[in-house]
Amino acid sequence: MTGNIAIVGLGPGRETLVTPEVRDMLAQATDVIGYIPYVARVAPREGLTLHASDNRVEIDRATHALQLAKDGARVVVVSSGDPGVFAMASAVFEAMQAQPQFAGAEITVMPGITAMLAAAAAAGAPLGHDFCAINLSDNLKPWETVARRLRLAAEADFAMAFYNPRSKSRPHQFGEALDILRGACGPDRLVIFARNVSLPDQTLNTVTLGEATAEMADMRTVVLVGNSATRRVGKYVYTPRSAP
Ligand code: SAH
Repeated sequence: MTGNIAIVGLGPGRETLVTPEVRDMLAQATDVIGYIPYVARVAPREGLTLHASDNRVEIDRATHALQLAKDGARVVVVSSGDPGVFAMASAVFEAMQAQPQFAGAEITVMPGITAMLAAAAAAGAPLGHDFCAINLSDNLKPWETVARRLRLAAEADFAMAFYNPRSKSRPHQFGEALDILRGACGPDRLVIFARNVSLPDQTLNTVTLGEATAEMADMRTVVLVGNSATRRVGKYVYTPRSAP
């Protein structure tokens, strides 16, 4: 193995939220690999090949990255947000483990600003006490697991961040998630629907669980649910530092 792989996070969207080390790594890359909209964020230049692939082919994409690196390339695998949060970093390590010829791969993971932290900052400090992050997609785990984690997180009074809340292929599950939360937390709990965070068309919609509807979320939305002490001050939402 003569090349190397960097798995980097491009942040939530705004260019100033790309870290300097990720920017430098992209400037040195010979090949950039990732999901189409993320690769589109990388400026083309001489000496750089862009490999954009469709959604849900993470292991193929990871294997492609490992093969290019084995052949001597400086490969950058791009994710949005942070590459370790419901993104490509785990996929590359899974592919490495499954294929012995890649055992010696040199891999660097570079963090990025994940959607929930950018959303929390835009809203105030809703994740200021203990919190958890849950991917609501059931592509890679059964829905029963998601439902169980929602109930237990609510029971433990965690604030929560939900990624991939609602897609066209599974339109009903997010409504079910809201029902579970209403059952466990009551109707007054604050919920923030943060869409296109950090981009010019960012929207933040803060409602109570009683007011929340499934249509308020799509795949460009990260949903934050407060704990039992989360409250508003002025136009901000925050969670106090001490346990309720
Ligand atoms: N690795 C990414 C998450 C990828 S999963 C990260 O760390 O942010 C994709 C999900 O992330 C989307 O469905 C949405 O829930 C969330 N997301 C990513 N960028 C976002 C943004 N700018 N605004 C709101 N949600 C975003």
